[in-house]
Amino acid sequence: MTRRKTRPVRVRDVVIGGDAPITVQSMTNADTRDLAATNAQIQALAAAGCDIARVAVFDEKSARNVRDIVDQSPIPVVADIHFDYRLAIAAVENGIDKLRINPGNIGDAGRVKRVCDCLRAHRVPVRVGVNLGSAERDIEAEYGPTAEALVHSALRHIKVLEKNNISDIIISLKASDIAIMMEANRRIAAMCDYPLHMGVTEAGLPGIGEIKSAIGIGGLLLEGIGDTLRVSLTGDPVPEIAAGQRILTALGLKPGVNIISCPTCGRCRIDVRRIAEEVRAKTADIDTNIQVAVMGCVVNGPGEAKHADIGIAGGDGKGVLFTKDGQETLDMERAAARLIEGVRAIGAARKKRDSGE
Ligand code: SF4
Repeated sequence: MTRRKTRPVRVRDVVIGGDAPITVQSMTNADTRDLAATNAQIQALAAAGCDIARVAVFDEKSARNVRDIVDQSPIPVVADIHFDYRLAIAAVENGIDKLRINPGNIGDAGRVKRVCDCLRAHRVPVRVGVNLGSAERDIEAEYGPTAEALVHSALRHIKVLEKNNISDIIISLKASDIAIMMEANRRIAAMCDYPLHMGVTEAGLPGIGEIKSAIGIGGLLLEGIGDTLRVSLTGDPVPEIAAGQRILTALGLKPGVNIISCPTCGRCRIDVRRIAEEVRAKTADIDTNIQVAVMGCVVNGPGEAKHADIGIAGGDGKGVLFTKDGQETLDMERAAARLIEGVRAIGAARKKRDSGE
């Protein structure tokens, strides 16, 4: 896939767009007025691999807390603000790394200008985020709840920003309807070069939310569209990070070990699940692309393993280990151990090659 060309936008030390890796974001759901709880949640998100965390800023106390939240956060922090231009200015003055606000909704031109002057003075980027539920009323009256309504609403906000000389813009067009979300992103992608933040909003509970997100976000990524993403799940935000990373790894957009394991059937001769989970646990730290096949029997095993970098297929009490150099039949436990050693050896060799040593 060829990635859509976008202008890079810097958010503290993380770049969104351009050639930068696709980042995974999330949003805290602790009360932002509770500093300790918000900070703990950001720490947990960062530990899970989150690149950028967003917090809701909805009153004076939460805006005041921005300074301590940003100071203590190991990752960039975004303030999510609706309507109130004073909270936007307070968040920026308190050091926020990025603002999510829709400038068309914050009042007259004077207020918009004050926010934009503040953004420029502090070199803070802004995300225009339109959800189908919050599309501009007159636009929705004309277009209905459609991709067009999302696109036209976003264009209106962007125009306001551009008129105020703001160019560090990221756009998100979200809907809980996957087809609408995808169509809106395709359309806006063809109209500008701002980076896109992607998500299926209100995707639901864990279990279904990841699937909807994988379809919507993953489908667009396959078309080369998208620079940063959030998987929205009801409940604890931390699992959103693993879900986002899995979407990227499955598409080969995040270096890591991609395990191809068969679903097993009556022919299965090894504990595929246990071995695949062991491989995943013991190779999670590898950040180079490696394909590993774990197959239950020698019917399909060799064929699949041929395309992988390394693989194993079950025989009676035995494991057949496949590498690029050939195959070897070993005692089951020995074969599983050798598989993991092999994956780690490939990882180390590729790392060395990539670093030019
Ligand atoms: Fe069944 Fe073998 Fe295919 Fe696994 S690889 S699903 S065990 S036929």
